[in-house]
Amino acid sequence: MRLRHKPWASDFLAEHSQYAIANPTLYKGKWNELFGNDNPIHIEVGTGKGQFIVGMAQQNPEINYIGIELFDSVIVAALQKVVDLQLPNLKLLNVNAKDLAEFFDVEEIDRVYLNFSDPWPKTRHIKRRLTYKSFLALYEKILKKGGEIHFKTDNQGLFEYSLISFSEYGLMLKYVSLDLHNSNFEGNIMTEYEEKFSEKGQRIYRVEAKYMN
Ligand code: SAM
Repeated sequence: MRLRHKPWASDFLAEHSQYAIANPTLYKGKWNELFGNDNPIHIEVGTGKGQFIVGMAQQNPEINYIGIELFDSVIVAALQKVVDLQLPNLKLLNVNAKDLAEFFDVEEIDRVYLNFSDPWPKTRHIKRRLTYKSFLALYEKILKKGGEIHFKTDNQGLFEYSLISFSEYGLMLKYVSLDLHNSNFEGNIMTEYEEKFSEKGQRIYRVEAKYMN
C-alpha cells in the first residue's frame, strides 16, 4: 500500500467518532451495547480503504462489522464511505491488530476476515504475517467457539503458507478455491486490491478456516 501523509486524517477521524472509535479499549466486552443489538460481530483485519467491509455491511444489515486498519491515511478512505452511507452496522478502528485482545473480550467476535494481507515474503518477517500462529492464537481468543477466518489473497506463496499454518494450528479448511473468480462462489464482494490484481489477470485464492475448539 503506497502511503501518502494526510495531515488532516486524525482530525477527520476525530470528527466522526461515532464511526471511527477513538478509544476502543473502552468497548472491550461491550461492542454489542455500542451497536445497540445482539447481532453477530465480524471483523476485518487490514481493512485498507474499506470497499469490502462497506459492501458487506450494506449487503448484511443483520451483521455488525468492525474494520481494523493500522494507517490513518488509509482508513480515512473507508471512513469517508461510511460517513456518506451513514451505515449503522459498521465501525472502524485505527489500531494495530497485534493488540486485538485489548479491544475485544474472549469469545466476543463471530468471524475474522483477512483480505490481501501483506505477504511479508522474507522468512525473517514470518511473524508479521497475519496468518502466523501467534495471530491465529489471538483470533482464537476473541472468536466464539467454532469461529472462522475467511481469507482471500492473490499471493500464491502467502496462500500456501497460510494453508499450512491454519492446518498446523488445527483449523479445519473449507471451500478452498484456487481461482475464486472462476468458481461457483456467490456474493463475492471485491476489495480494492482484488479489483486491481484481477484486472491484471491474477488468480484470486480463497479459504475458510474453522476453529475446532
Ligand atoms: N484489505 C485491503 C484490500 O484488499 O484492498 C487492503 C490490503 S493491503 C495489502 C493490507 C492492509 O493491511 C494495509 O492497509 C495495512 O496497513 C493493513 N495492515 C497490515 N498489518 C496490519 C496490522 N497489524 N494491523 C492493522 N492493519 C494492518
